[in-house]
Amino acid sequence: MGFLKRRIFQGLGTFLPNSYLQGFLTASLYQGSLKGMCSPLLNCYACPSALLSCPIGTLQHFMVTGTVPYYGAGTLAVIGASVGRMTCGTLCPFGFLQDLLYKIRAYKASMPVWTRWFRYFVLVGLVFIIPFLTHENWFSKLCPCGTLIGGLPWVTLNLNVRSMIKALFWVKVAMLMFIVGTSTMIKRPFCRAACPLGAIFSLFNKSSLAQLAWNAETCTRCGKCQKICPVDIRPDRNWTNPDCLRCLDCTRCPSLKLTTVFQRNPFGLPTQPQAGNGTERIEEVSALEHP
Ligand code: SF4
Ligand code: SF4
Ligand code: SF4
Repeated sequence: MGFLKRRIFQGLGTFLPNSYLQGFLTASLYQGSLKGMCSPLLNCYACPSALLSCPIGTLQHFMVTGTVPYYGAGTLAVIGASVGRMTCGTLCPFGFLQDLLYKIRAYKASMPVWTRWFRYFVLVGLVFIIPFLTHENWFSKLCPCGTLIGGLPWVTLNLNVRSMIKALFWVKVAMLMFIVGTSTMIKRPFCRAACPLGAIFSLFNKSSLAQLAWNAETCTRCGKCQKICPVDIRPDRNWTNPDCLRCLDCTRCPSLKLTTVFQRNPFGLPTQPQAGNGTERIEEVSALEHP
């Protein structure tokens, strides 16, 4: 996908689920029928302009009430099984914000791979176990996206809310500032290390219908795909990486393309024996593309 096209998708993913703009003017929340639907994005329910619900907030709500989140879990499973993490790469507003922050001229650093495990602890601990035991939405209480598009607007718009500020609010603001600051130096730190929605979708990257395919015959191992990748990974080494956002930026290289699990030969490699390039090699490449 071209750079501009992805930015347009990300812009739409930010604006359309948050197009109840009168919420900011009237300091009110949209309460219509769309609010009963989960978006496939980390987009706070409490944002004054939000039309849809946040899937993580929905999962937590069921944990708090001790019921099985069939609807939220089913919605996420259908999206994940279809496109893996693609909504992270192409639509999510909080991911878009981190992409933009990384464009700022600042000291740049890489993130250790082991930090990815932290997002699964956040998912299991803060979204499932602790809310179930304490009957409180602990992830939502701390979520930096919620602070940015829910907490801060309400504190600005409503005097009553401002008078209720407690220490926890400043903890949330400090966490948001930390994410904003680190996003100028590291590619998508929150998505890679802390987001429970990204953690759920990443479980589907290996098996989703949509897949990234890599052509071993034409790849020169130049590493340019890693340089443009918003999460700093090398798709030529692992094209089903759970960290891959399926943003498709790397498909600007002809050795990578979007395909489906049904496509056994996405690059149209020759299937007849050829001099110096036997069928064994072609089968080997095909197996690599669909492990
Ligand atoms: S990992 Fe979370 S914050 Fe990042 S793009 Fe995906 S849903 Fe959005
Ligand atoms: S996939 Fe393309 S950009 Fe990446 S290493 Fe191979 S040739 Fe280079
Ligand atoms: S590997 Fe390619 S599709 Fe995946 S996140 Fe990186 S650039 Fe995007």
